[in-house]
Amino acid sequence: MSAQVSETRYRNYIGGEWVMPSGAELRPNQNPADTREVLGEFPRSSEEDVARAVEAAAEALPGWRRTSGPQRSAILTKAAEILERRAQEIGEVLTREEGKTIGEGVGEVLRGVQILRFYAGEPLRPIGENYASANPDTFLYTERVPVGVVGVITPWNFPVAIPIWKLAPCLAYGNTAVFKPAELTPLTAHLITEVFAEAGLPPGVLNLVHGPGQVVGEALARHPKVNAITFTGSNAVGRHLYQIASARGAKVQLELGGKNPVVIAEDADLAQAVEIVTSGAMRSTGQKCTATSRVIVAEPLLKEFTEALVERAKSITVGPGIDPATYMGPLVSEERRESVLRYIEIGKQEGAKLLTGGEPLTGPEHKHGFFVAPTVFADVEPTMRIAQEEIFGPVVGVIRARSLDEAIEIANGVDFGLSASIITRDIRKAFHFIRSVEAGIVHVNSETAGAEPHVPFGGMKGSSSYSREQGRAAMEFFTQTKTVYLDL
Ligand code: NAD
Repeated sequence: MSAQVSETRYRNYIGGEWVMPSGAELRPNQNPADTREVLGEFPRSSEEDVARAVEAAAEALPGWRRTSGPQRSAILTKAAEILERRAQEIGEVLTREEGKTIGEGVGEVLRGVQILRFYAGEPLRPIGENYASANPDTFLYTERVPVGVVGVITPWNFPVAIPIWKLAPCLAYGNTAVFKPAELTPLTAHLITEVFAEAGLPPGVLNLVHGPGQVVGEALARHPKVNAITFTGSNAVGRHLYQIASARGAKVQLELGGKNPVVIAEDADLAQAVEIVTSGAMRSTGQKCTATSRVIVAEPLLKEFTEALVERAKSITVGPGIDPATYMGPLVSEERRESVLRYIEIGKQEGAKLLTGGEPLTGPEHKHGFFVAPTVFADVEPTMRIAQEEIFGPVVGVIRARSLDEAIEIANGVDFGLSASIITRDIRKAFHFIRSVEAGIVHVNSETAGAEPHVPFGGMKGSSSYSREQGRAAMEFFTQTKTVYLDL
């Protein structure tokens, strides 16, 4: 084991070099499905390491900004090709490091490939507009220019897709980056960085710094040469970073948590509704910002729907994600498992009825990992903490609604507003829901989770800072507008 560990001591990537920070403590990384497996050791970097990475990014900025659009496009295309070639290998690492199933792991890498291909086209598309001027001799136009050095701070739950949907537009529009991945998924971050480096990014354009959020993330948010911070993660950390970075004038983008509802209308197809809720709530072990955590059911369907949902939840295969037969893997860490179990206790104390799950799994295939059984609560009241706070695990609460308007009021009665869904074949109900629900992403007859990579993604209310990621919408954050009055 020690030989293996010594071969898998990973480093930061700064100024085009793989560097080990001097004197840094190393943090081992475990497989959450079987903690006996150590995937590698990663440095807990310091503020000085961040400063070095920021200097490298600042130094590389003028050259990268002046690199032609077709050249930037070619590098991103190459990155897409390399990632596609390595999809199976990186997908397996993702599964062993984060715990999601192998289908989801490889699927996520392939989504990363699609995102890269989309943004490889961006440097070739128009980036400005011409205007009529009051002076007929003036050529008046706008141009989108890079924001500068961007701090990219990401969570562990989509360790390939989220970094790539930030890094690809960041680099495509001519910015340079310091990438600080989540401490729970550093190996995946290492592999993504390797892909970009192999694709031919010049030194310093992309830098990777491993380490704890409170040190590395904070240092990025505070550094005066970091012009923008793009962050995905929890509300508490996001708000904290916003205060620090926006106070010194940096641009800040936040994508935060969710408490995503599915409304089951009276006319819903029950079998379809059960499948949509199960997949939205339990895939990726409920660890998606867009996971379904509340089901708001029309009263006439309540009993039949709840029974069918419980039966379906009981039939889920829970185990190591590397086994292709697994539907649901472990929680990502012991801390996350304990937090989910605490919420289950809170739900019971609040008077919700636990119908299935609610416990850690301890069988032979589970005892070395962080598994919790798929959990369904009934009799959930909209004001309960389990109906208000993000649990981020395989837990779903069923709430009764006496009318569609009441269902929408319940759906909107939380601080979050990321994704929401309605199951109905009635076009009037669907439109009423689409217009009334407070969510950045609305689904009709599909699950709350799931987002296509070429369209805007983001939340309302407490789920976001209102800017959008993905698609051309990302240009708004990663560029700034220059207005030019040209008289010759
Ligand atoms: P987290 O907030 O704990 O960590 C996110 C990142 O911030 C990590 O890289 C972490 O190291 C860093 N960080 C932590 N403390 C910091 C600090 N004081 N200063 C600077 N950086 C710091 O979140 P997590 O547990 O990694 O991810 C789960 C959360 O992410 C959930 O709330 C989920 O809903 C949210 N999420 C949102 C979206 C979205 O697009 N809206 C997508 C995925 C996940």
